[in-house]
Amino acid sequence: MSNLTPYNFEVEKIINEVRSRGAKTVLVQAPDGLKPYLKDLWMKLSSVGVTVYISTDPCYGGCDLADGIGRKLGAEMLIHIGHNKFVKTKEEVPTLYIPATYSVDISGLVGKSVEFLKDRGIRKVGLVASLQHVHSLRGFVEGLKSNGLDVVVDDATGGLVLGCDVEAAKRIAGSVDAILHVGGGDFHALGVALSVDLPVYIADPYRGEVRDLEKLKRKILARRWWAVQEARNAKVFGLIVVAKTGQFYKDYALLIKKELEAKGRKAVMLVADEVNWERLSTITFVDSFIITGCPRISVDNQEIFGKPVLNGEDAKELLKVM
Ligand code: SF4
Repeated sequence: MSNLTPYNFEVEKIINEVRSRGAKTVLVQAPDGLKPYLKDLWMKLSSVGVTVYISTDPCYGGCDLADGIGRKLGAEMLIHIGHNKFVKTKEEVPTLYIPATYSVDISGLVGKSVEFLKDRGIRKVGLVASLQHVHSLRGFVEGLKSNGLDVVVDDATGGLVLGCDVEAAKRIAGSVDAILHVGGGDFHALGVALSVDLPVYIADPYRGEVRDLEKLKRKILARRWWAVQEARNAKVFGLIVVAKTGQFYKDYALLIKKELEAKGRKAVMLVADEVNWERLSTITFVDSFIITGCPRISVDNQEIFGKPVLNGEDAKELLKVM
C-alpha cells in the first residue's frame, strides 16, 4: 500500500496490467471521497509514460462507469476505483476494478463492538461490510467469538453489501439477533436496516465508534410512506430513465408509465445522467417523480426533494394503493 493513502489502490497491479495491455492512455474514475488520494497513482502511471485522465465527475458505484467517456478519450483502459464489477454487460473499454480496501487496526473497534452488543443483550450477531472493509470481517469474527458471542457471516457473499444489494444480510437475518455492519457513514447500513426486521448497528472504522441506526431507519421509513401517500394525488408523473450504464431501466420505466396511464394519470418520460433536485425542479409541470435507476436516490434525498420522489419499489406500492 502507498504510504500516502490509507486505501490500497494496488498501484503495482495497475501498472502491471497497464503494461501487459500496452495501454498508453487511461481514464481513472473514483468516488469523491477517494479522489484526494489519486496523486500517487497519477504520478506513478505518468512516470511509466502513460497519459492519465482523472474523471472529476461523481462516481457512485460500479453501476456508474465512465467507459463511454473513456472511449471518446481514446483510453485503452478504465481504472475504476472503489467498487467491484456491477454491470452485466461488457464495458466499452477494458475496465480494471480496484476495491480500495481500507486497513486500520480494528482491535479497539472490535472491543467496543463486544461491549455494545453485550450491553444490548445480543448473543448471536450477523456481520456484513462494505467493499472497503469486508476484508476486516475475519478479524471481527475472531474477536467477537473469543469474547463469547455467536457470529454468522453469509458464505455466498462473504458478508459484502452494496447500497442496493443487501442479500448478505437478508440471507442470515432469520438466524441472528442483530446485524453489525462494518463501514463508515450510514449509507450501506441503512440499506440493510430497511431490508431486515432486526436491530442494525454500525462499527465505524473511521470514527472508531459503534452506533445504532434505529432512529434514522424510522425517519426514512416515515418519509417513504409520506412520499407514496402524496404521490397518490399526483396527476402528472415524471418517469426518470437514468442513463448510467448500470442504472438504465428504460423498459421498466415504460411499463410503469403504461400502468399509471391505465389508472387515468399522465406520465412523461424523462432521462438524466445525474438525478438531483436542482435538475428535477426545472420540470415544474410534474407532480411526482419516479426514478427507475438507483433505488437509493429517492430514499436518501426525499428530505431535500420538493415533491414526492419514488423508486421502482415504491412505484409498485403506489400502483397497489391507487
Ligand atoms: S445502483 Fe445505487 S446503490 Fe446500487 S451500486 Fe449503484 S449507486 Fe450504489
